[in-house]
Amino acid sequence: MVAQTLERPSLNQNSQAKKVYDVVIIGTGFAGLCMGIRLKQAGIESFVILEKGNGIGGTWRDNTYPGAACDVQSHLYSFSFAPKSDWSRLFGPQEEILNYMNQCTDRFGIRSFIRTNSEVSGASFDEKTGLWEINTVGGKSYKTKSVVSGTGGLSRPVLPNIKGIDTFKGAKFHSAKWDHSYNLQGKKVAVIGTGASAIQIVPTIAPIVGTLKLFQRTPAWIIPKPDSNISGSVKGIFKFIPPLRWLFRKAIYWLNEIGVLAFAINPKLMKIFEKFARSFINKSIHNEELRKKLTPNYTIGCKRILLSNDYYPALNRENVELVTDGIEEITSSGVKTKDGVEHKVDAIIFATGFQAAEAVSPFEIKGREGKLLANVWEDGAEAYLGTTVSGFPNLFMIVGPNTGLGHSSMILMIESQVQYALQGIRYLLNKNIKFLDVRKDVQDRYNKEIQRRLGKSVWLTGGCVSWYNTSSGRNTTLWPGFTFEFKARTFFLRPKDYEFVRADGKAKKPGIGSRVSMILDATFG
Ligand code: NAP
Repeated sequence: MVAQTLERPSLNQNSQAKKVYDVVIIGTGFAGLCMGIRLKQAGIESFVILEKGNGIGGTWRDNTYPGAACDVQSHLYSFSFAPKSDWSRLFGPQEEILNYMNQCTDRFGIRSFIRTNSEVSGASFDEKTGLWEINTVGGKSYKTKSVVSGTGGLSRPVLPNIKGIDTFKGAKFHSAKWDHSYNLQGKKVAVIGTGASAIQIVPTIAPIVGTLKLFQRTPAWIIPKPDSNISGSVKGIFKFIPPLRWLFRKAIYWLNEIGVLAFAINPKLMKIFEKFARSFINKSIHNEELRKKLTPNYTIGCKRILLSNDYYPALNRENVELVTDGIEEITSSGVKTKDGVEHKVDAIIFATGFQAAEAVSPFEIKGREGKLLANVWEDGAEAYLGTTVSGFPNLFMIVGPNTGLGHSSMILMIESQVQYALQGIRYLLNKNIKFLDVRKDVQDRYNKEIQRRLGKSVWLTGGCVSWYNTSSGRNTTLWPGFTFEFKARTFFLRPKDYEFVRADGKAKKPGIGSRVSMILDATFG
């Protein structure tokens, strides 16, 4: 079914009639690209994709630090509809992933829809017209029937709130904003943080720098990364016998999915992983004191489990020191720890993560009755199926609250959410419907269920502090189940979950005919 482009007069009476897009997508990470591709395939071509940077790729464009690579197998960490036979490694490096995203952008013909250097500053919904107005930092504005936000959970790097951080005279940068003009060769370097980014950075720069001081607040559980090059013959087999590539992807999928049993259903099963990780530390680190410092005191899985073969060997190096005394302040020439020692360095690298759990949207979003999303989410972000929020009609979030995974590929979740959002958008374009708003009682019931299930998970029972949870201890980031459950629940947008408002302002539920056509669209469209 091909949608019509709506042309409506602008809300601003002084300006000329302005184009009204069917959809404005925000972000060109995997989420934004997937939505754009699916819209185009569905014949919906009245859309733009706004991107704050000057190229596509989101987190895979920004994170160019040495050693950046995926920690999910690339044959699964790629679109199901755009398999790639020739991944160079089981866990692809950043550059190859970014290339893949660029290839998909061109192959599916969505580059002309992308507006780079278009950072969104705000979005507001007008209940009278059922339209959103999206404003950019550069002063442009777009009117649209619907908005898809694909801004991701890892787009806002966080510098820690450490006293004196601005006084440091040497080089300093965040892992997600790597300063490639700075030559690390032979330098005295501090790395703050020991999360997923740090464990990739440290082994890569350790052989280059003069000395490396790694400041650890909490150790991470680390297991070996089953990574290797993929040989030419295997790539050839995948290329010429696609069912084998498909089987390989499925095998990875099901192996990862088993993890849910331990993460979310019975955290006692984590003991098996913990034993494995403990023996990995014991085998890799020979100095007893260092081993003690590196052994976490919380249940494995509570924080993200990290995969690395070269992190522990890097810490065994003579020029690398693990500092665990706690940072007191940053001085003009280094990092001072609580034991009074000043560690003088030439450069500080902050591998201190992203602002994720507290707020999912990086700009002001105003919904019905002028309500601000930031206020609605004061006590923690929540949505229905991670995608729609009551009071914010026609807005679809990809990678919204409680859609993150601790065990598998985010692209699985993204594809499910895009499928769901596409159905909502089709309703808005094909029927005489002004807006659809998820019912508050439906959203509340859903979140009650999600939080009840999360309460039993390792993320809330494992005894750690992590960015998965808000400061009040609620998990607003992770999906507490199998990815196939999420796929099933987002496969059909159930009209009864939504308040439908017609163009004449009356509430209207779609009739049986509309629902049947929706189901046909969703299945074969
Ligand atoms: P992160 O996991 O949030 O780690 C941040 C690190 O900085 C933690 O070790 C944290 O210590 C430390 N830290 C924060 N503030 C500090 C302070 N004031 N003083 C001392 N230490 C401080 O961030 P990340 O490593 O950038 O990873 C974020 C997420 O990105 C990951 O969970 C993952 O989802 C994703 N990621 C994925 C890949 C991949 O391979 N696909 C690679 C990198 C990142 P505490 O633990 O004590 O808080």
